[in-house]
Order: sequence, then C-alpha cells, then structure tokens
Amino acid sequence: MSISGLRGMFTKKSSKNLKFGISVIPENSKLSIEKNIELVRNSGLDHLEVAFVNGLYISEKRAYEINYAAAVNKVTLSIHAPYFINLSSPKSEIVEKSKELLLKVGRFARTMGAETIVFHSGFYYDTPKKTFEKVKRNIEEIKEAFEKELISVKLRPETMGKRKEFGDLEEIITIAQEIGGIMPCVDFAHIHARTKRFNSYEEFNKILRKLEKRLGMEYIKNMHIHVSGIEYNGEGERYHLNLMDSDFKFDEWLEALNDYGVEGVVVVESPEPIPDAVRLRKIFYDKP
Ligand SMILES: [Zn+2]
Repeated sequence: MSISGLRGMFTKKSSKNLKFGISVIPENSKLSIEKNIELVRNSGLDHLEVAFVNGLYISEKRAYEINYAAAVNKVTLSIHAPYFINLSSPKSEIVEKSKELLLKVGRFARTMGAETIVFHSGFYYDTPKKTFEKVKRNIEEIKEAFEKELISVKLRPETMGKRKEFGDLEEIITIAQEIGGIMPCVDFAHIHARTKRFNSYEEFNKILRKLEKRLGMEYIKNMHIHVSGIEYNGEGERYHLNLMDSDFKFDEWLEALNDYGVEGVVVVESPEPIPDAVRLRKIFYDKP
C-alpha cells in the first residue's frame, strides 16, 4: 500500500472522497458520449452526467457501448431524465407517460451502468401541500416499478431553481425522508437562485446540517450535487452561467463541503463545464 493510502486509513481529514464531473446534453455536444467520457478522464475529472433532457432517443446497444467506455476510463455515470417528466400535471396522461418514461430511463441507466437518475418533479398546479402528496405518490409508484424489475439505480428528485417548480430543499428532503431509498439531488445554484440567499459559508453549512439531521450522515457520504453560476430574478432561476461570471461564492461553498466531509459526486452544469469543474476540483483537493 502507498504512503498516501496508509494516511487515508488513519487520518479522516485527508481521505477526501468527492468526485467532480460535468453534465453533457448529447445532442448539443460536438463529441460522442464516449468521447465526452474520454474528455472527462483526460481533464482529471471522474464523472459524466448524460443529460437526456430532450428525450431518450438512443438504442439499447448504445447503452452497452457507453458502459464499456466508462469502465475503461474509470468514469462514473449518471443520467438526467427528460424535461418532459412532470409528476404533478393535472393531465393524467402526462403523469402516466412521465412514469413510463422514468421506467424506460431506469432500464437504460441499468444497462449503461449509471448509478443515479436525476429528475425534475413538476410544477405547482395546486397548493404546495396537494402538489407534494401527488408527487410523492407518483415517485413511490416509480420506485416500486424499479424494485419489481430489480433496477437498483438511485432515483434523485432535484431541488429546483424556479419558484413555480415543485421542489424546494424542504420538499425534496421530506420526499426522501418519507420514501425509503429516494435521495435528493441538491442543486446549490438552484437553492441560491430560488431564495436569493444561501451564498456564504455559514449558509452552506446550514444546508448540510439540515441534510445530516434529516437524512443522516449516510446521505452526507453519498451526495449527488449540481452546481453552476446562475442568473436569477424575483421568480428564481433564469439561466446558468460560468462560475466566474456569477455571484456564487464557490470558495466558501467548497470550504463548507470540505469541512463537513461531504462525499459523492459534484456535477458542474456551467455553459463551459470543464474549466469550472477542473477549477473546483483543484481548490477542493488543494485544501488541507
Ligand atoms: Zn436538472
């Protein structure tokens, strides 16, 4: 065993275990998904989130090919489910189609070797409470469908950036608390844009304390995080920015993640994600 390996065994602080990666929408990328996996590896990053946000129009054969490329390059994978998914729609056919689509994404994710599926839950067509109950019921059904087919890919509803979208931090934590096996995808840029707060070391720490208190240290050691710069107004998120063009205090944010011993995956969703992810990773691992 190497010296650094030994040190990792005995001193908790030096055993950092947080992966940094990027999100890519396949249709918007000049590169194939395999080439993006290689780019992640060659940039010193660890993770690729494949954002099938416009739909899952890809053959099962491709899932095997992507799985192979990720294994060869030692890059872990997640999927961002299509934006079509809406579990709170008043139109039952949209909800049914959403559930079918999430199951289809689940099957594809399993073949692709993805560990996580991130999805948007829906919008407030009703009171927050009624919307919560509806979303919860539908996520429960999807979870049961996954179990029936022995799909062990994690389902993670995302904390959303627009105030009209279901999924503030409290709602997503409560969903995770009430449905076993469901975990949040915590998007720190969205939380900041939605609340206009949560942009300091103390506030980031507050989020982490809340997550630990409600979901346990086990969750802190298995987080799936989204981050980017963000432009926002009174309604919340407008669009994503590169970190340097935004007001996001990523130094303080990394400090908080580091001090809390957060583990898991950080997916950078900036318009130019590679330089931002490389920057964040370097700052994080350079810290003592
Ligand atoms: Zn998202």
